[in-house]
Amino acid sequence: MNEIKKITLPEVGCSCGKAHRSTVDDVIVGKGVINRLPEVLKRYNAKKVFVLADKNTYKAAGERICSILSDNNIAHTLYVMQQDVIEPNEEAVGSVVMHFDHDCDITVVAGSGVLGDITKIVSTIRKTKYIIIATAPSMDGFASNSASVIRDNLKESIYTCTASVIIGDTEILAAAPMRMLLSGIGDMLAKYISICEWKLANLVCSDYYCEGVASLIRQAVKDCTDNAKGLIERDEKAVEAVFRGLVLSGKAMMYAGVTRPASGTEHYFSHIWDMRGLDKGTPVDFHGIQCAVGTYQTALVYDQLKKLTPSREKAIKHFESFDLPAWHKKLADYIGVGGEMMKKVEEKEHKYSEEKHREHLDVIISKWDEIIRIINEEIPSINELDKLYDVLGMPKKLSDIGLDDKDAYIVFCATKDVRDKYVSSKLAWDMGVIDEIIL
Ligand SMILES: [Zn+2]
Ligand SMILES: [Zn+2]
Repeated sequence: MNEIKKITLPEVGCSCGKAHRSTVDDVIVGKGVINRLPEVLKRYNAKKVFVLADKNTYKAAGERICSILSDNNIAHTLYVMQQDVIEPNEEAVGSVVMHFDHDCDITVVAGSGVLGDITKIVSTIRKTKYIIIATAPSMDGFASNSASVIRDNLKESIYTCTASVIIGDTEILAAAPMRMLLSGIGDMLAKYISICEWKLANLVCSDYYCEGVASLIRQAVKDCTDNAKGLIERDEKAVEAVFRGLVLSGKAMMYAGVTRPASGTEHYFSHIWDMRGLDKGTPVDFHGIQCAVGTYQTALVYDQLKKLTPSREKAIKHFESFDLPAWHKKLADYIGVGGEMMKKVEEKEHKYSEEKHREHLDVIISKWDEIIRIINEEIPSINELDKLYDVLGMPKKLSDIGLDDKDAYIVFCATKDVRDKYVSSKLAWDMGVIDEIIL
C-alpha cells in the first residue's frame, strides 16, 4: 500500500471568519496511485466511465486507465482527441460533447490544464462528476472551480464544478515533459507576488485576507523551492511537492473565495501575453512559464518601488495629468480586442476615480513602512531569485520566451487594467511613480 497523504485545510474555526470549503472530495498523490482508480470509482457507484484523453495523455496515462478498468470489469468508453494542438475553445468542448457516451455517469480524464478545463465545462453541462488523473504538474487549476477557456477568440474564466477526485501518480507526473514541470513550479513562484499583493490589498483597500490560507501557500512554495534541483532531475519527491502545491493553490482560491492566494501582477503579465497571442499571433508559452517571467519582472518592480518614498504632491500631480482615454487607446492598440474589453470594464469599475486614488494614497503614505515590510517579507531579493531561476533554467526576461524585452514596461502598465485588483502597477500608479519604473 502506498503512503497516502492528504491536503487538508480547516473547514471551520479560521480566524478570518470564513468557512474554508472545497468541493474536491479527495486528493490522492504518490507512486502507483493510479491503481486506486477502481476503488475511487466504487465510491461514486459509477456504472460506466467516459475516459477522455488526447494523443499524448493517452500514452502517458489513458492507456493504463483503460487497462485498469478492463482488468476490473468496469464498463467504459474511450475518446481520444486527435488534434495536434488543442485549445480550450468551442470546437474542443463541442467535440467532447459530441463524443460523450450518454450511458456514462462519470468521466475520468487523463490530462492537466487544457483537458482539465474542457472536462470541467463538459461535466458542468452534463451534471456528471469527474476524476482527473494528472499527467503533468503544470498549472494550478486541478482543484479550482473555474476553467480557463477561449470563447469568441477571447481568453475567459468560466465558473464550473470541480473534480471530485484528483489523482497524482508521481511516476506519471515525473515523466511529463520538462517544460511542463518548469511551468508547474513557475505557477508556484507566482505565489511570492500573489501573497504579497493579497496582503497589500488588505492593507490599502481593506480587501478580505486570510493569514491561514496565505501561510499554507507560503509553505507549499517553500517545499517546491527547497526541492528545485530535484525537480530538474525528475526526482519524484520534488515533483510531488510541486503537484501538491498546485492542488493546494486551486483549493486556496476556493477557500478564500477569491483568486488572491494564487494570482497577482505576474498572472496578468501572462494574461496579456495570452490575449496578444490570440489577437496578434505573438508567441505564447506555457502558463506557468509566463507566470515565472511575470514574477521575475514584478520582483524587479517591487525592488524599485521599495526604494522610493511616496509624496502626496507628486501623486496628485501625476493623477491630474493622467490621460485615461489616451491610455485606453494605447491598450487597445497594443493588446487588441482584449484591450478594448478593459476599457469597457473600466466604465463600470472606475478604478481610476479620484475618490479611490485619494483613499489609497492616504493609506500608502501613512503605512509606507508596513508596505515595505510586507514586500521585504514576501518577495525574495533579486539575488535570491536569480539563484533559484538559474538552478531551474527558468526564463526571466521576455526575450527568454520569444517576446520583445522592450515591451516589458507597457505590459506592466497594462496589468492594472486586467481586473479591479490591487496589484503592483496600481500601487505605482497611485504613488504617481509608474513612469519611473524601469523594466
Ligand atoms: Zn481563514
Ligand atoms: Zn496560474
